[in-house]
Amino acid sequence: MEKNYTNSKKAYSEAVDLMPGGVNSPVRAFKSVNMDPIFIESAKGAVIKDIDGNEYIDYVLSWGPLILGHADPDVVAGIHRVAETGTSFGFPTLVENELSKLVIERVPSIEMVRMVSSGTEATMSALRLARGVTGRDKILKFEGCYHGHADSLLIKAGSGVATLGLPDSPGVPASVAMNTIAVPYNDLESVKVAFKEFGDDLAAVIVEPVAGNMGVVPPIPGFLEGLRELTKENGSLLIFDEVMTGFRVDYNCAQAHYGITPDITCLGKVIGGGLPVGAYGGSRELMENIAPAGTVYQGGTLSGNPLAMTAGIETLKKLTPESYKHFMKLGDLLEKGFREACEKYSIPHTVNRAGSMIGFFFTNEEVTNFEIAKSSDLDLFAEYFKLMAEEGIFLPPSQFEGMFLSTAHTEEHIEKTVQAFHNVFAKLAK
Ligand code: PMP
Repeated sequence: MEKNYTNSKKAYSEAVDLMPGGVNSPVRAFKSVNMDPIFIESAKGAVIKDIDGNEYIDYVLSWGPLILGHADPDVVAGIHRVAETGTSFGFPTLVENELSKLVIERVPSIEMVRMVSSGTEATMSALRLARGVTGRDKILKFEGCYHGHADSLLIKAGSGVATLGLPDSPGVPASVAMNTIAVPYNDLESVKVAFKEFGDDLAAVIVEPVAGNMGVVPPIPGFLEGLRELTKENGSLLIFDEVMTGFRVDYNCAQAHYGITPDITCLGKVIGGGLPVGAYGGSRELMENIAPAGTVYQGGTLSGNPLAMTAGIETLKKLTPESYKHFMKLGDLLEKGFREACEKYSIPHTVNRAGSMIGFFFTNEEVTNFEIAKSSDLDLFAEYFKLMAEEGIFLPPSQFEGMFLSTAHTEEHIEKTVQAFHNVFAKLAK
């Protein structure tokens, strides 16, 4: 029986008159799957409910932050407790110290951290710091990586930019765009060429240590090591954008998992537990260049917001090394179930995984960069997305986004999802 989306359709027809495209962030518009967006009413644990009363097992988790699942009781209680005492002061609070300590303790490259309110702010500020301390203007990024919507970073970007197939950076001045060099992910040779040509001008290389905005694409062996060496040799800084991978790939983030220490690390998503947070950090020496300790300016009215800090603290406190064993176990089951269903119905497929991030692609080619990710069968993905929603499984509505697991997901959720793969592929194979 087809699901009823009447209320969502009505809400969307109202929203398109109120907000550009009816949404406050492009990826919510379901454009690439040719569907109207589903409006959400509420969610608990791994289950999300729309305004028509349809329930789904959620693998989007607000695009990553909700690693404990929705409305975790400790996160919610913390937010309530703190809200009673005031929501924002614009002056220092103890919870800022507490979350900073947790981040410094768990992220190997961070000795000092600055809290901001989004991932975009984190990467934008990290670039300013890199440019400020090196006195250089250019940066190098990778095609299909998304680092938020700051001007310098909207060049050959992933996520919604990739999903909508938008041209590069309308609205970004040419004088800004010329300072961003983009090369293919996992391609160290291109990085070497860029360093040969621009080495003295390159302030930083910014990379998602596991790319999560062209689908999930892990680094091939030697790639991150090569970036570390090349940046060091050329006096550039290495920035790991761990906004998505931070606390998702491993207990101590992707940098510990792959054994590479970047100069600057950007965080977001998980460290805000579902409230607006970003952060960037590095060595004490480097971070003391930020105002008011140093001269590189960056500030924020709501930076270090007590509600957001508390949601982050409660989230990080509940994550243990055991949580990551849980993600591996569920990820193994999901991958096995997906592969078996694809094989049974002769669906081309590739699976990429890193911790609680999972990427399924409809191609038989190994996916190591954006060009290959784009060769996936996008029409098949759109049909698959719609039919999975019919089965009560909520996936990111784009081939260029990853799926996420939470500690609230159980083997039973995975079994239901695998059954849905079989039901959906049986229909698609016809
Ligand atoms: N960097 C990465 C790797 C991201 O995945 C995102 C968001 N998906 C951002 C930066 C931007 O974060 P925000 O949307 O909070 O600005």
